[in-house]
Formats: sequence, C-alpha cells, structure tokens
Amino acid sequence: MKRLFSGVKPTGDLHLGNYLGAIRQWVDLQNKYEAVFGIVDYHAMTSFYQPAVLQENVFKCACSYLACGLDPERSVLMIQSQVKYHTELTWILNCLTPVSWLERVPTYKDKTLQQADNINLGLLDYPALMTADIIIYKAEIVPVGDDQLPHIELAREIVRRFNGTFGDTFPEPQGIVGKRVKGLDGADKMGKSLDNCIYLYETKDQIWAKVSKAVTDPARIKRTDPGDPEKCNIFTLHKFLSDEDLREKVVDGCTNASIGCIECKRWLTDNIEMTIAPIREKYNYYLQNRDKVAEIYRFGNEKAGIITEQTMSEVYSRTGLDYDFLK
Ligand code: SF4
Repeated sequence: MKRLFSGVKPTGDLHLGNYLGAIRQWVDLQNKYEAVFGIVDYHAMTSFYQPAVLQENVFKCACSYLACGLDPERSVLMIQSQVKYHTELTWILNCLTPVSWLERVPTYKDKTLQQADNINLGLLDYPALMTADIIIYKAEIVPVGDDQLPHIELAREIVRRFNGTFGDTFPEPQGIVGKRVKGLDGADKMGKSLDNCIYLYETKDQIWAKVSKAVTDPARIKRTDPGDPEKCNIFTLHKFLSDEDLREKVVDGCTNASIGCIECKRWLTDNIEMTIAPIREKYNYYLQNRDKVAEIYRFGNEKAGIITEQTMSEVYSRTGLDYDFLK
C-alpha cells in the first residue's frame, strides 16, 4: 500500500471548508493508503503566536480530526513537533536547497506582504520543512489545497536533488488537489481570517444566522426575479451537501422563480446541520475527554517515531553521518 501524508496548520477551529474541501476526502483515503495525518504545529510558528493559544489550537485540531472520522486504528495521527526527526531531516534538506528555489515560492511572497513586520527565516524555509514532513514517511501521495501545489513541485525538486546526490532514497511525492470551497461571502475561499465560514462546532441556529445573510445571485432582487444557480454560492454548497433531487429542485425553482432564496437557504442549512451534527457531537465529546485524545496522540506520535527513525537511519547512512569510528 502506498503511503499518504497530509497535515493541517493548527491556527484555530476547523470549518466546513476544511471538511468539505479536504478532510472528508482524507476519511475515504484512509481505506486506500497507509495514511499519516499531522498537526503541523511548527508551521504555525512562522507568524507571531501565543504559546497558550497554540496549545489550545493543537488540542482542538486533534479533537476535530477525530470527530471528522480520522481513525487512529487505520492511520497515524501525529503532532509534528513531537516527532523529532522532522526538523532534523529539514536541516539536511536545507543544505541541498538553493535559497533562490525558496524565494520564488508564491506563498512566501504573499506572506512577506501579509506580515511585513515579521519576515523570518522560518517563512522562507517553510517548504523545506513541508518536504521533510512528507518524505520522512516516504509518502507518495499528498492531498493539498491548490495554493500548495508549488510546494509539492519544490518538494519533488528537493527529492531529485537528494536522490541525485546521495542515491535513490525517497519517492517523488504527488499532490492530489482538494476542492476549493468558497466562503459565505461568495468572493473568496472559506477561511477563518475572512469571517466567511461555518465552524464545525456551530449549532443549527448559529449556522442559520450565517447562511441567512449569505450572498446569493445578485439578479434575484425580488422573490419573482429568476436567478442563475451557477452564479450563487449557496448552490455551490448544495453541490457539496445536497442529493441530486434537491439540487434539481433548486435549479428549477431558482431559474423559474418558483422558490425564494430563504427557502433554498433553509434546505441548505438542514443539510449542513445533517453533516455537522455528528461531527459536533463527537467534537464536544473529545473536548471533554482530554485523556482519551492524549492517549490517541501519544500512540500516533510513537508510531510516527518508529517510521521516521527507520528513514533517518537510511539518511544517516546515505549522507555519511553514520560515523564508522563511533561504531
Ligand atoms: Fe441562490 Fe438558491 Fe437564491 Fe437561487 S434560489 S439565487 S440558488 S439562494
């Protein structure tokens, strides 16, 4: 079975966009691949952060993963900083990676604009750490967002350079692009910073409060105005969450103005609730059961430790760090 790696940066609670765009696929991919899912906390340190908030975010992220259906019996669930070889391999990769490769990564350029007061070395080196995260498990498959594809391309280049320098050691990882889920503003990707998302812990009333205010097809000013579902983000969400019959009902009703947007949003809210309710219940269970979460993650970190130790032993030998005179 091929190995898969993916991770989420713990910067706050997970939302519906994370679930529909990525985590829902991960749950299925667990049956197809030997999967490792990481909470990549070192990546969260490239922006200013508060230690207590990081602690809580990592814990909540762990609870969300479990609530969404990532299964510690089938997959390795780990926290990056607790598996020490990730950073050790990063140093070795740093010494093979030209700075010019890192400087051309689009997300680095974006970040330097977003946090001009904190352009730190970690920001630049982020893709080398991400490469280490993947290849230390010899993962061949990496589910990512479309904005992460340049990182995967760079990871492949770094792997080629390592293999070319020290001999074939790592497979070249391949990205599988998740789905982009637009936020309730209909303008941008669903995200925490844009305040356009529905969190996985929100109640039906809270969901409705947000959905009822969401942007729709601007052509439907009055109830009697026909609309175009393809120009409406509510319909995009129906495509993720509603069955074919309901989607057809929305298309017909919207285009001939026989339904109103409120009705359409009510149906969507029902389906969001149906998806989120079991996740919310499990999430609240894990929040109340810290010991259980700790036990699961200790177990996952240990499993990850065993895999990464094996890889590093090979890396030491390839790179000459297994000194004969010490044996
Ligand atoms: Fe959007 Fe539904 Fe209103 Fe059509 S009826 S514009 S799909 S919310």
